[in-house]
Amino acid sequence: MGTHVPAMQEALAALVATPSVSSAQPHLDQPNRPVVDLLAGWLEDLGLTVEVRPIDPEDTHGRPGKANLVATLGQGDGGLVLAGHTDTVPFDSGRWRHDPFKLTEADGRLYGLGTADMKGFLALVLEAVRGVDGAALRHPLVVLATADEESSMAGARVLARDGGLPGRYCVIGEPTSMVPVHLHKGIMMERIHLTGRSGHSSDPGLGVNALDGMYRVMGALMAWREELAERHRDGRFKVPYPTLNLGHIRGGDNPNRICAECELSIDLRLMPGMDVDETRAALAARVREAVAGSPLEVRTGPLFEGVPAMDTPADGALVRALVDLTGHRAGSVTFGTEGPYLTALGLETVVMGPGDLREAHQPDEYLALDRIGPTLDVLGGLIDRFCRAP
Ligand SMILES: [Zn+2]
Repeated sequence: MGTHVPAMQEALAALVATPSVSSAQPHLDQPNRPVVDLLAGWLEDLGLTVEVRPIDPEDTHGRPGKANLVATLGQGDGGLVLAGHTDTVPFDSGRWRHDPFKLTEADGRLYGLGTADMKGFLALVLEAVRGVDGAALRHPLVVLATADEESSMAGARVLARDGGLPGRYCVIGEPTSMVPVHLHKGIMMERIHLTGRSGHSSDPGLGVNALDGMYRVMGALMAWREELAERHRDGRFKVPYPTLNLGHIRGGDNPNRICAECELSIDLRLMPGMDVDETRAALAARVREAVAGSPLEVRTGPLFEGVPAMDTPADGALVRALVDLTGHRAGSVTFGTEGPYLTALGLETVVMGPGDLREAHQPDEYLALDRIGPTLDVLGGLIDRFCRAP
């Protein structure tokens, strides 16, 4: 058993050579199924019970060929989930010195698309699972590989909705330079569209000016931002309040025409305790209130589904174990993860991986060779504590 499972670097080379870009832009998006099938074959060979869960295109904005993978070794209650996403971000090949799809060893590093974020972690998990005797486990060891983390988080979303994931603790191997991360803000990106009526600029009565309306909306959003900052302070974050960024605006055509259409896009970073749906409803109410009494037509809506904040208690068993095993203090990051969806499934979830965050989403992304040994040690320690110990 397991004789056909490649060694860590060879496995990573195969994962990197299998493109799995996910993107909100349809022409860049690719299936992740080939990566899932590679992992499924290897994990089966290592004796795990493997379940490939295809995702209905209805849940992926119509993109076919997406799947999650759940592989389990051993039985019992509790247990540890080692989780990673199978997709990568798109890449700009002109800015790479190395071939993004060919794992290249140089300067003590393994270069390739997804090495840090986060096919490298999946290859390390495979290595950590190799040789673990399922019959000797008191609690199950679960490998989870998800789809579309970099675009819509469809994989994690579907998983949270459908359930059926064993385990009590979960490590997501996003690039954190081995720092255990228990805390991050949520993210929303929303669009506000105002429709008025065009007309000659010489007589305001001939139209309804959408830019005038958006000026009021922006004032209202800036006032709301202050209120949110007062209501949701949290000193654990570097920026200790929720943010609302007015990021993009488009409207009008000519100085001598009344502006008929104006659209604003904003980014919100939510504190723990702020609900995505409630915040979206509050935003819509603020916008409507700002232009109440005018004939402007208002539409608001998400640019993507939005990700809630993660706030795993710092004194939880997994956080403490990771602090102990890595020697790092637990911290926060400024990006969103699949963590909140796994938390919703009842898993105590921490984000910790060998990649360097500065390397993720960059040309010549790499995994440093000297991270491999320490990561395997940490994973081995986790399996001892959460799967082998009573
Ligand atoms: Zn990632």
